[in-house]
Amino acid sequence: MTRKKPCKVGQNKSEIVRDVPLACADEQAAVEFMEKRRWGDSPCCPCCGSVDVYKMTKRGSDEREQHFRWRCRDCASLYSVRKGTVFEDSRIPMRHWCFAFWAACSSKKGVSAKQIERQTGLSYKSALFLMHRIRFAMQDTSGDKLTGVVEADETFVGGKPRNKTKQIDSGKPGSSHRTRYTRKTPVFAAVERGGRVVTRVIPRVNAKNLRQAILDTIDVSARLMTDENVCYVVVGKQFEGGHESVPHKNHVYAKGDVTTNTIEGFFSLVKRGIYGTFHAVSKKHLHRYMDEFAFRYNTRKVDDGERMRLAVEGAVGKRLVY
Ligand SMILES: [Zn+2]
Repeated sequence: MTRKKPCKVGQNKSEIVRDVPLACADEQAAVEFMEKRRWGDSPCCPCCGSVDVYKMTKRGSDEREQHFRWRCRDCASLYSVRKGTVFEDSRIPMRHWCFAFWAACSSKKGVSAKQIERQTGLSYKSALFLMHRIRFAMQDTSGDKLTGVVEADETFVGGKPRNKTKQIDSGKPGSSHRTRYTRKTPVFAAVERGGRVVTRVIPRVNAKNLRQAILDTIDVSARLMTDENVCYVVVGKQFEGGHESVPHKNHVYAKGDVTTNTIEGFFSLVKRGIYGTFHAVSKKHLHRYMDEFAFRYNTRKVDDGERMRLAVEGAVGKRLVY
């Protein structure tokens, strides 16, 4: 007897993956998609929380202004799914938001505003606005500190590679002696082995900034692993699990289970993404790109549909004000 094998692709397709194509093409479907993600089966009023609400019927001439509103019977407020989310104050159609979320969540290296501009027909400015809000939605706001075995390291990213200008650091006490490039920005990152990564953009590499970043992101119960940078020595003493370092200077990259290979792997993903996809990233927005890379890393074990669900959930309840 032969039994038909269940289709693997079909099996893995979540509800989101099934709904996305239509939501990227049709405004009504896009709004309903976002409403479903936000409220599930019980839409409620963002002002008072009442579930005694109803959908307004379409009217008015301006499509972007009049459609898809809800009215609350308790507080009489009029709202749409955008209210109180990163979509608020934006006239960009919801279907473009859906498309950009999907593009950002289903590609390994991320998607640039240029690409969104080409594929949606939005202006570059609008596409950039949209992508920054998506990155904001991806930001980890849990505030949970890393525990267990934690690797920490710092690197320099950003700037246009062709504008590289060599500059040796001043060599003042506490400063890093490595060569760096004027337009690059220091980034600190820490990763829990087998778990989450967190990042911090720091003004410069010194013991004070690294100490602050470490204590903000890593629980003192952790076992800390770093390279031989002297900036980590003092703060390392606070860790109950101990602080161990690998002397990269002597080309030693592992001492038993002590390595920083996991965090360096994350940095290489970031660099490939920055130079390959985004090309030039301004200092001002670098932390948003880092949030996006961290989000993608932290959701590496889930499928694209689940990743999109998490990102869209992050969009709800957050508002970006420049
Ligand atoms: Zn209400």
